[in-house]
Amino acid sequence: MLSLHSGGGIGGLCLAVALSRYPDIQVDVYEAAERFKEIGAGVMIWSRTWEILTLLGMASDFSQIAHATPDGSLGVGFDYRKSDQPEGSQFYLFELPYGCIRFHRAQFLDVLVKHLPKDVAHFRKRLLSYSQEASDGHLDLQFQDGSTVTCDLLVGCDGIKSGVRRQMLKEKAQAGQADLLRLIEPVWTGTIAYRGLIPVHRLIRADGQEHRTIQTPMMVARSLHMPKSSAQHVVSYSISRGSVVNVVALVSRPEQEGAPYEGPWVTDCSAQELHECYAGWEPEVVDLIKCIENPTRWAIHHLRPLPFYTTDRVVLLGDAAHAMSPHQGAGAGQAIEANPCHQDAFVLARVLGDPVTTMSTLRHAISAYEYVRLPQANRVLLGSHISGMMYEFDGPAQVDLQRLGPMIGAQWDWLNETTPEEEGRRALSWMQDRIESL
Ligand SMILES: Cc1cc2nc3c(=O)[nH]c(=O)nc-3n(C[C@H](O)[C@H](O)[C@H](O)COP(=O)(O)OP(=O)(O)OC[C@H]3O[C@@H](n4cnc5c(N)ncnc54)[C@H](O)[C@@H]3O)c2cc1C
Repeated sequence: MLSLHSGGGIGGLCLAVALSRYPDIQVDVYEAAERFKEIGAGVMIWSRTWEILTLLGMASDFSQIAHATPDGSLGVGFDYRKSDQPEGSQFYLFELPYGCIRFHRAQFLDVLVKHLPKDVAHFRKRLLSYSQEASDGHLDLQFQDGSTVTCDLLVGCDGIKSGVRRQMLKEKAQAGQADLLRLIEPVWTGTIAYRGLIPVHRLIRADGQEHRTIQTPMMVARSLHMPKSSAQHVVSYSISRGSVVNVVALVSRPEQEGAPYEGPWVTDCSAQELHECYAGWEPEVVDLIKCIENPTRWAIHHLRPLPFYTTDRVVLLGDAAHAMSPHQGAGAGQAIEANPCHQDAFVLARVLGDPVTTMSTLRHAISAYEYVRLPQANRVLLGSHISGMMYEFDGPAQVDLQRLGPMIGAQWDWLNETTPEEEGRRALSWMQDRIESL
C-alpha cells in the first residue's frame, strides 16, 4: 500500500515514523516548505503521549531534550495562581505522574526527523488538490510545482489551514450537506498569545533567589471582572534541560470570539506592546514578562468540531482535523495520539498495518481510526476552550476559587480515563468485527 502524507509537522512526522515499521506500507511525506521546521517556542505533553513516544522507541532521545528526564514520579502539571493583587496566591495545584513534560519545539521536531527513514521526505511540494480514479479508487495528487503522484491513501497532516480538509468538506457539501461549509475555516477565539523564551540565568536574582517558574510550571491569571476590557493569563515553564523558560502570555476579549481576524495570524511584535498588557500585575509576573526581548504575537484560532475525519481514501490528522486552542497543551499530543499503541503498534498505523487490512478493507481501517479518535479529539478541543475561559475566571465558577480549582482539575480527566493501549485495542476490535461481518 502506498500511503502519502501531506504535511510534515509533528502529526505527519510521528505518523510517518510509526507507519515506517510496516514493510508492506510505503510512506511518503510531501511538505510545502523547503525543510521540516517548527515555529513557536515550547511544547508540553502529558504521560499518555510520553507512553506513545516510548513505544515508538524514541524515549531515550526525547529524554535528552526534555526539561528533565521523565521518570514517572508525581510532578506538577500546573501551579494555578491568582495574580491580580500585589501578593499572588495559589488557588489550585494540578499534580499527576510525570507532571507536564516540556520541550523546545525545534528540538522536538529534530528527534522525529532523526527517526524518519531515508527517502521518505519530499520538500517544496505544496499539495493543491486530489482526485479519485473511479476504476480502482486510487488517488491522483496535484502539486503547486505542476507535478502529480498517485497513491492509495492520502493523510492530510497539513495543519490548521488544511487544504485537504477544505476539499473534503466542499465535496461533501456539494453532495448535499451544505452546512459543512461553515466548518472549513478556523474561527478566531478572541485571544492573542504573546510567546517568548528567556535564558534561565535572567530569572535568578543577584542574591541567588530563583523565579518560581524555573522549577514549577505556572498558570497565573487575573479576573475578567476587574475594571478593564480584557481577560488575561500567563503560562510559563522551563524547557531544554532547565536552561530556558518558555512564556505564553494571553490576552482575551471574549466578546470578539468568532469575529473575523484581519491580518497575519503570527507576527513579531514589540516588547513594549507586551509589557503594557501586563503592567500592574503581581511583581513576579511583571518580572517574567519584562525579560522577554523578542516576543511573537499569535491570533489563536480553533476549529468547530468536525463530524467526520475521513472519507473513502482520505484521512485528516492533527490540526487539520481538530485544531484546538492551546489551553490544555494538547494539540500536538492529540496529533500523536492518532497513533495510540497496542503493544508495539498504533491506531492509524496499527489498523493500516494489520494483516486483515488490504485494499478492499482499507475503508474499515480508516473508519476504525475515526471511530476511536473523533470523539476523544473533539472532546479535548471543546474542553481546551472551556479551560481557557476558566483560567481567566470566565467559566461557570467565575472567581469562586473554592469551586474553580476542582472544576479545572475535572477538565483534565480525559488524561486518565483510558490508556493509549485501550484505545488501540478498541480500534482494532471494531475494525475486525466490521470485516468479519462482511
Ligand atoms: C500558542 C500555542 C501553544 C501551543 N502549545 C502546545 C503544547 O504545549 N502542547 C501541545 O500538545 N500542543 C500545543 N499547541 C498545539 C500544537 O502546536 C499543534 O496542535 C501541533 O503543532 C499541530 O501539528 P500538525 O502536524 O497537525 O500541524 P502543523 O504543525 O501545522 O504542520 C502542518 C505541516 O503541513 C505543511 N503544509 C501545510 N499545507 C500544506 C500543503 N498544501 N502541502 C504540503 N504541506 C503543507 C506545513 O508547512 C507544516 O509543516 C500549541 C499551539 C499554539 C498556537
